[in-house]
Amino acid sequence: MTSVATQLNLLPTRPSGTAVTLEGGSCNSSLTQDPWDFPTPLVEGYGPGASQNDVAPAGSPAQPTIPQRYRDASPEELDAMIVAAKETLGERAVVMGHFYQRDEVVKHADFIGDSFQLAQQAKAHPEADAIVFCGVHFMAETADILSQDNQSVILPNPAAGCSMADMADEESVEDCWADLMDVLGPHAVDENGQTVTDENGEPLASVIPVTYMNSSAALKAFCGRNGGIVCTSSNAQTVLEWAFKRGQRVLFFPDQHLGRNTAKAMGVPLEQMPMWNPRKELGGNTAQTLKDSRVILWHGFCSVHKRFTVGQIEKARAEYPGCTVIVHPESPMEVVDAADSSGSTDHIRKAVQAAEPGQTFAIGTEINMVNRLAAEHPEHTIFCLDPVICPCSTMYRIHPGYLAWVLEELVAGRVINQVSVSDSVAQEASVALERMLAAVPKK
Ligand code: SF4
Repeated sequence: MTSVATQLNLLPTRPSGTAVTLEGGSCNSSLTQDPWDFPTPLVEGYGPGASQNDVAPAGSPAQPTIPQRYRDASPEELDAMIVAAKETLGERAVVMGHFYQRDEVVKHADFIGDSFQLAQQAKAHPEADAIVFCGVHFMAETADILSQDNQSVILPNPAAGCSMADMADEESVEDCWADLMDVLGPHAVDENGQTVTDENGEPLASVIPVTYMNSSAALKAFCGRNGGIVCTSSNAQTVLEWAFKRGQRVLFFPDQHLGRNTAKAMGVPLEQMPMWNPRKELGGNTAQTLKDSRVILWHGFCSVHKRFTVGQIEKARAEYPGCTVIVHPESPMEVVDAADSSGSTDHIRKAVQAAEPGQTFAIGTEINMVNRLAAEHPEHTIFCLDPVICPCSTMYRIHPGYLAWVLEELVAGRVINQVSVSDSVAQEASVALERMLAAVPKK
């Protein structure tokens, strides 16, 4: 009856002969445990996986106590519970599965995609009373903002946060904004202190806030009320172009790497991209550095994508001459520069799908997605750049036991583990999301 280890597809089960690793091993032996075996609350971090050394903010949602029957159930029993509950619920519930989610969960998803694709699916299914989001907290929040008022969005395990999103909290960003307004004022000025205007003669803003989709609803709302916008890894350049039409510079949070990689590709010099460290005065900058800046980068990162290195790329190329290296733009700049291409999860999927059979791909993104691509494309050789198996710690917390639990509760007429964004926050966040949807790429 035990489900220990058997639920972790990453360690014992590698996809068919086409998937290879350069070395092997995992970043934490506790990955073979079920998430309810970890101490609650997680006082020392986010649990085993890539974010295990990041510091979780105080007050992060705790892992709820899941009834014993789900803990005791075998993988087959959990599968049967999920299938039966979904059948009973029919169109009343829709299950979303993120690309980085484990296979035992994703196989039950009605839709698989990245965070924004899944939020759009939530919007496209007003017939469902419940949207069960097998991703992380900020994704469920976005689904709640975009879905109808009468729909409930459920995160099977509320402790599935995102360490990167947690690196920028609302209070720190508000403090940063107040400092920037003190130093820069609300409007752009030239070197002679004259107000800079746009093509319509309107003053340009001194700073436009841009938040990555991987951020709390509160920060999306901050952008909504301060003339800012949201971006994804697919449209970051389009969004920065939108921002530069309206402001002299950008404050980009929480992911420094996506901000730097995108701005660099647009020709912004690195010396005009200072980092804002929220623990230091003026973010660790001088007033002049901020005045000379074009993109101010928040000191945040994804611990999954931070693991990729140029050394791994060199090793992959040495062992698999001619392989194509594709990495996600949350990876460090030198890794993106050394890769053959970089792009969102969708970009990576499409590149693999479009390739002639017999190609070799070394991919720099989350291991679940890489393994799934390898399994779906036996005509190619596909492997993860990182030889150590280290999934996203927080995605990993969505276990089939939690999915079975929330679905069976829905069958019983109860909504548990709901993620709900207040109307005022949702309204302001929608403004920033709508600006993103309206932003069109430069021709
Ligand atoms: S992969 Fe990185 S950015 Fe995505 S949910 Fe995990 S920690 Fe957050």
